[in-house]
Amino acid sequence: MQPPAHHHTERLDWQDVSLREWDCTVLWSDPADPEAGVVLDRSAFYPGGGGQPPDHGVLLWQGVQTRIVGTRRGDELFLLPAPDDPVPPAGTAVRGALDDARRSSLMRTHSGLHVLCGTVFRDFGALVTGGNMEPGEARMDFNLPDVPANFKQTLEDAVNAEIAADRSIEIRMLDRAAALAIPDLVRTQDRMPPDAEQWRIVDIVGLDVQADGGTHVASTSQIGHLRVVKVENKGRQNRRVRVQLSS
Ligand SMILES: [Zn+2]
Repeated sequence: MQPPAHHHTERLDWQDVSLREWDCTVLWSDPADPEAGVVLDRSAFYPGGGGQPPDHGVLLWQGVQTRIVGTRRGDELFLLPAPDDPVPPAGTAVRGALDDARRSSLMRTHSGLHVLCGTVFRDFGALVTGGNMEPGEARMDFNLPDVPANFKQTLEDAVNAEIAADRSIEIRMLDRAAALAIPDLVRTQDRMPPDAEQWRIVDIVGLDVQADGGTHVASTSQIGHLRVVKVENKGRQNRRVRVQLSS
């Protein structure tokens, strides 16, 4: 899903997903209400959306550290400080830094979920009905009334074959009309905002195409091994697949 635009923050995470440290300036914070958050002129913090949780990290300024533990949705991209951490006032020059282990794991996990989606759709014809993602582990629900024999192992083998194939993961912006012309996108169409003029497309070349605002690795081999931990029944139609990164 396309996250909403954040009017005054330049999204460095969309320009370079490998960026972990950068210089920036505080545009807004409220000294009387630090927990309202901090707005930066440039930010690489992924704000959350499309199932991917927000980045964590720090703002370093004048010998002080502000830990960032989440984001708040609004007209701006508000970065939320850890409770009781000092917050830089507007105009302060700060150095931003992401928690690299968390972000890098989320990138691998998110790309792994797209491989899972693409594989389940191609091999079993099932659509995604829900999901949840944390660093290194995730679950995804599929509309799959009949589970084939040996589904868990068959799926794990097929997913890891796609990872080993080292498929390129390409990001591009498309006009709404061009995006709608991609047949595979229709199956995830309900997750898109109807009014967006430009859609960000994440294309695992030859396997899966989705409109998505998340951060992804550059090719499937960077995901590492994905283990299918469990397949659970969630009602008559739905099967919940739990996965973990195992390397
Ligand atoms: Zn996604």
